[in-house]
Amino acid sequence: MPEFGAEEHETTTMETGAFCLARCSCGWSGPARRARSRARTDADGHHTQVRESIALREFNTPSPPTHCPDH
Ligand SMILES: [Zn+2]
Repeated sequence: MPEFGAEEHETTTMETGAFCLARCSCGWSGPARRARSRARTDADGHHTQVRESIALREFNTPSPPTHCPDH
């Protein structure tokens, strides 16, 4: 089973003048960094956020109402 959404996020780093920033194929872009390694770190962080948001979405998927066992 393929990991949903992961393929749609292809990150690259681009330089704008003295700065370097991470960009993703989904339209996301990170803050301008003076070091490309920082931009890559931002890209990794974006991937982590994407995975977490997918997990959160699955977690928040409506499920049939269940009665609380304490009541
Ligand atoms: Zn993305």
